[in-house]
Amino acid sequence: MIDLHTHTICSDGTDAPFALVKKALAAGITTLAITDHDSTAGWEEAVSAIQPQIELVLGAEISCLTTDGISVHMLGLLFDGKNSEMQQMLSDSRDTRVPRMRKMVELMSADGINISLDDVYRATPEGATVGRPHLADALVANGVVATRDEAFLDLLNNESKYYVTHAAPTPVDAIEVIRKAGGVAVIAHPFASRRGQIITASTFTDLVAAGLNGIEVHHRDQSADEQSTLTAIAQELNLVITGSSDYHGTGKLNGLAENTTHQAQWEQLESLADARRVVKK
Ligand code: AMP
Ligand code: FE
Ligand code: FE
Ligand code: ZN
Repeated sequence: MIDLHTHTICSDGTDAPFALVKKALAAGITTLAITDHDSTAGWEEAVSAIQPQIELVLGAEISCLTTDGISVHMLGLLFDGKNSEMQQMLSDSRDTRVPRMRKMVELMSADGINISLDDVYRATPEGATVGRPHLADALVANGVVATRDEAFLDLLNNESKYYVTHAAPTPVDAIEVIRKAGGVAVIAHPFASRRGQIITASTFTDLVAAGLNGIEVHHRDQSADEQSTLTAIAQELNLVITGSSDYHGTGKLNGLAENTTHQAQWEQLESLADARRVVKK
């Protein structure tokens, strides 16, 4: 069982990297990718948890914005973690999330919502990429909403008046940096329309020109129709098809391995990295 997209407390998941690997092992996952938002901070701890039955794919999910301002998530897998351009891109993104969070909190408290930046920091694990889920947790702690999900329904979604973007690379830039760092680039849940505005089918041509390797087709935020359109696009453009859980621990409903990637697709994807970087024991 191959699950190529999961999160830990190093971004907005609720499991430590060690615990995530143990849970994946118990769930029967044989190939697990750890893909925290804009961070590789969980890699070392995750590596320390592997057993012969499970291999680890180190990666990150990069928050991107198109030139039209559409939010896109790009999974970078199997890149060289020491690549300086890659680490610079990730740290630039994390840095700009701080003033962005300050602005969101200011807008909300100006409207009388009980929230401060300190509340958000209390809800953010040490060293984690700070994001809306931590703001959601702070709102839950303050009794403003009952759950993360409820916070996203209204206050925190992409169309909310409190939503502020942070500076981010374009998907093309992110793909180029991932590929230069020797990794493979898979666009995450590109047609997840319930999250907000999505890219059009024609955009994929530009992404392929930049070096895109795959499309995350099987993901709970994409309908059966959206998944079949994406399958057709992947086949036409000769891209690898992946499926994954986007597991966030108790932070989201997504269950480990609820969607998975076929072995042959995974083997093709892995072969496109510039070195054999799957971590095994
Ligand atoms: P940010 O990167 O700070 O803009 O936050 C986006 C993150 O919020 C995404 O990566 C999702 O994991 C998370 N998210 C989006 N919708 C929900 C939801 N309904 N419940 C929990 N987390 C969510
Ligand atoms: Fe997330
Ligand atoms: Fe995502
Ligand atoms: Zn994700």
